[in-house]
Amino acid sequence: MQTRIIDGAALARRLRLELRDRAAELTARGRQPGLVAVQVGEDPASKVYVRTKMRASAEIGLYSEHVELAAATTETALLEKIDAFNHDPRIHGILVQLPLPPQISTDKVLRAIAPEKDVDGFHPCNVGLLATGQPRFVPCTPAGVMALLASEEITLEGREAVVIGRSNIVGKPMAMLLLQKGATVTMCHSKTQDLALHTSRADVLVAAVGRPNMVRAEMIKAGAVVIDVGINRLPDGKLAGDVAFESMLGKASHVTPVPGGVGPMTVTMLMANTVRAAELARGSASGSAS
Ligand code: NDP
Repeated sequence: MQTRIIDGAALARRLRLELRDRAAELTARGRQPGLVAVQVGEDPASKVYVRTKMRASAEIGLYSEHVELAAATTETALLEKIDAFNHDPRIHGILVQLPLPPQISTDKVLRAIAPEKDVDGFHPCNVGLLATGQPRFVPCTPAGVMALLASEEITLEGREAVVIGRSNIVGKPMAMLLLQKGATVTMCHSKTQDLALHTSRADVLVAAVGRPNMVRAEMIKAGAVVIDVGINRLPDGKLAGDVAFESMLGKASHVTPVPGGVGPMTVTMLMANTVRAAELARGSASGSAS
């Protein structure tokens, strides 16, 4: 079987062109979409992620702010900052880069972001809207995966989908979205007894674990669509996904590479949510996110 490598970077480029036009239209009407990224501490991976997001927002013409706070910042100080951005009319999207230092409750911080500016889609209000099938902001990584599947015209209705990983930011919303498209969804996690038993039944397999190369060819069904969300830094400095990529070639029908698969789509969906937030704020967006 010829395996198709899904080019997330190319799709991201196409979508960003469309977003640039939508952002320009809003700007022309005096409402340039605005995104603020708040980063607390010096985590090197967080710095890279925030820099990538800021670069993308400049590229599509958003107003953007990058707030860098010291690792010792108190929870109160961070909550005050968020409150100020909740009331700032230039800002339509607020992103707090995770993880936060231990003195700060992530839960409290995520709840403090105004739900209509919660472009990461982590506020319980937005989680609830997604769970009840009326999404406002879909978390960026699963939204990116759905866009990749749609771009490849992969049918989900009636098919077996397996998600490995059950985090609030990737695994759970991913499963919800697949379910809403009519797939029969199985969620696996660290307590799953026989992972391969489940993965080998999947027509669509999404790996979001954080363990390099854990999904190997013998664990998948021939012809499966394999989506690799994992980003793992190997000792030699190279990036690897959760899927043993080379082993998929010839067995999977589709596979996403790392880098160049889901990663660029995650950033693009953040931009899409921010443009949508600005459109919603001026009442020009349709009811729910697709
Ligand atoms: P978390 O650490 O929050 O969740 C990992 C999940 O994997 C947990 O649900 C855990 O189970 C499960 N797990 C751990 N070990 C196993 C195992 N041996 N078998 C089955 N399941 C297991 O990670 P995230 O969801 O935040 O991220 C997952 C990966 O995706 C990471 O590599 C991260 O870097 C990457 N990522 C990539 C993004 C992108 O844009 N491409 C964006 C966000 C994340 P349990 O719940 O039982 O502990």
